[in-house]
Amino acid sequence: MSCSEWDRRIRRASELKSLYPYASEILTFYGHIAPIQREIYRTLEAECFSQTVSFGPAEWSKQLTAFLSLPQWGPFLDAIEVHAPAPLSACARQLRGEDEAAWRQRIADFSSLDPDGFKAPQGLILWMFLQPFAEYLADHAEALPYETPSVCPRCRSKPLVGVLRPEGAGAKRSLVCSLCATEWNYRRILCPHCGEEDFHKLVIYSARAIAHVRVEACETCRAYIKTVDLSKDGRAVPIIDELATIPLNLWAAEHGYRKPRVNLLGL
Ligand SMILES: [Zn+2]
Ligand SMILES: [Zn+2]
Repeated sequence: MSCSEWDRRIRRASELKSLYPYASEILTFYGHIAPIQREIYRTLEAECFSQTVSFGPAEWSKQLTAFLSLPQWGPFLDAIEVHAPAPLSACARQLRGEDEAAWRQRIADFSSLDPDGFKAPQGLILWMFLQPFAEYLADHAEALPYETPSVCPRCRSKPLVGVLRPEGAGAKRSLVCSLCATEWNYRRILCPHCGEEDFHKLVIYSARAIAHVRVEACETCRAYIKTVDLSKDGRAVPIIDELATIPLNLWAAEHGYRKPRVNLLGL
């Protein structure tokens, strides 16, 4: 079922290339990589369990490591080397030369990477490779308990993007996990990074040309997250629109805000 989600992302990336020419290079790259991620997901669907599995966040990393398919790593790196911007491409070439033990160690270390580690080419490549496995696990995990944690309730990764979905006369907010794409409800007036709840310390910035995406920043911890408002553009696909709306990231950086979990651009 989630293969259609990959299709939606690929279509949206293609649409946004013409709307946001400044994001053309990264969206073109995404257009090469997402179909490979979709193929990994499809292979898992064909070969693995389809029943719901039960395990807690503490076991997530172990499950993911056990679940990975080593033979997919080489071809994935080949694709990155061919299609990625130069720094990622060079890194993929270097990783290709490593042995299986080194690669397994990198996977084991992934969940403890710091923000700079995620920004580095190795972190970005590992992240892209792990996504389809993590999403497959999440799609076959038990329903979420009702809670609003600041990290993913399934895998404990940080959120990549916020979402506003129309509800009644207003909109409700949720966050999307950077690794397994789980979406969970989150209060609107609450910083996901430090827990600030004071309305006056939580600022929102939006640009007229990109009305459906906004920066939600916190004056207390100086962190921000971008949020995609589906009531303003129902065709938006949050992780793609987050990636494409680069001027908002630049605005946030210029104003001294930092983003705890970067996107594929390292922004
Ligand atoms: Zn997650
Ligand atoms: Zn904060």
